[in-house]
Amino acid sequence: MSLVVMKFGGTSVEDQAAIERTAAIVAGRVANGKRPVVVVSAMSKVTDQLLACAAAASRGDRTGALAISSRLRSRHKDTAAALLKSPAAIQNHIDHEFDCLDEVLRGLAAILELTPRISDLIVSYGERLSSAMIAQAFQQRGLNGEHVDSRQVILTDSQYQKAVPLSELIELRCNEIVLPLVNDGKVPVMGGFIGSNEAGITTTLGRGGSDFTGALVGGALNAEAIEIWTDVNGIMTTDPRICPDALRVKVVSFEEAAELAYFGAKVLHPATILPAVSKNIPVLVLNSRNPSNEGTRITSLAPPCSSPFKCIAVKRKLSIIDVVASRMLMTHGYLKSIFDIFDKHQLAVDMVSTSEVSVSLTVDSTDKLPAIAEDLSKVADVKYEGQKALICLVGEDIRGKNGMAAQVFNAVRHINVRMISQGASEINMSFMIEEADADEAVRSLHAAFFQNPDPSIFDVEARKPASTV
Ligand code: ADP
Ligand code: ASP
Ligand code: MG
Repeated sequence: MSLVVMKFGGTSVEDQAAIERTAAIVAGRVANGKRPVVVVSAMSKVTDQLLACAAAASRGDRTGALAISSRLRSRHKDTAAALLKSPAAIQNHIDHEFDCLDEVLRGLAAILELTPRISDLIVSYGERLSSAMIAQAFQQRGLNGEHVDSRQVILTDSQYQKAVPLSELIELRCNEIVLPLVNDGKVPVMGGFIGSNEAGITTTLGRGGSDFTGALVGGALNAEAIEIWTDVNGIMTTDPRICPDALRVKVVSFEEAAELAYFGAKVLHPATILPAVSKNIPVLVLNSRNPSNEGTRITSLAPPCSSPFKCIAVKRKLSIIDVVASRMLMTHGYLKSIFDIFDKHQLAVDMVSTSEVSVSLTVDSTDKLPAIAEDLSKVADVKYEGQKALICLVGEDIRGKNGMAAQVFNAVRHINVRMISQGASEINMSFMIEEADADEAVRSLHAAFFQNPDPSIFDVEARKPASTV
């Protein structure tokens, strides 16, 4: 059966027009004999606004929180009215959901403590509402949409805000709940990002996690493809918001995609690739505003490319921690004692560099830093600084090539580089700079490495000036 999972991001469902486009794209797949399972994000910016609601309530700003919630209520009800001939039922549902949310916000404003668990409950409304509404919109457009509450399907552990999915249970639930609908000719519509733990309490997979939901469902159902529909033509040579002349990459390997997602290319959630790799399911990144564009294909093996790098990613809001041993030499077990402290605070380290007396590490959290620094100061002298960015160049074709580092650092010779690493995977080179220099570094590298890109891998046609005929 040609089952495809189609995940639509926030901009692809941001308003009536976007949802109409999405419905047309899904209808096109059905017309081609495909059986889609649709995963949707919250409407664009809704997750941020729900988090803002939660933050306001937890500061005691009850009025501010309820005002944001009220604007969100109107946005969803107005969109439903624009989409549906008879919106009353879904509007009642939207009202009921927002009444429940407002209760939570009032409670939060009284207790003034926002736990990760409550935060997950609050943000889950975004995907719950968008998926319920879009299922109805599909029905009205002859698509047989059927809403599925993802919390019944995406079972996770209890690490709120970054829950780990339980693949075997997800597979069972997908086969019990989602597959029968598909077999019945229905188009299941699920919210991305959200799940629930064993006790049925709402969890989320971390920001940008709807891609991950799409991949989990695709993996569980052995889909023929996982399509990630977004607002750009695919994975580009770098973020087009930084470099407008970024080019679409036609094909990348799973390994390359995983590296560049992890190192900050927002277009794909870093964990998306895992379920696809384990079952060798191709992932396509496509543009819902330009559906005829062929997008980017992520496959197990990428064809050889004459350009060394495929993509430049940037990860911002990082901090660098310098730990200097108080005695001259790092003794046996010293590094372990440092990493144990990071483990205790559950903070992942992105990059490490060591010398005889010092260790520098980069992390992407600032709120845990004072507590970590205090613990580290028991074994060493510690300094930390925020506002750093990691620039990462990814490409399988750098394997075994000489002189790449020289070319990279020559391109950014005017920028102060704080730390350097060549990943053990051998397909990425990364370095740490001041966040303020990040855009300039990306533009310089892009100009240096994508002057004459390999036309079999990059969409060079898009760069040619429009014909003047
Ligand atoms: P969605 O809401 O569809 O999940 P996201 O905002 O999460 O979309 O991701 C798409 C955005 O990712 C693009 O608009 C683009 O600005 C950004 N982006 C960052 N790096 C890249 C890249 N290398 N290729 C394409 N887009 C990128
Ligand atoms: N809505 C969630 C977010 O903004 C998940 C997603 O869109 O992927 O992070
Ligand atoms: Mg995203």
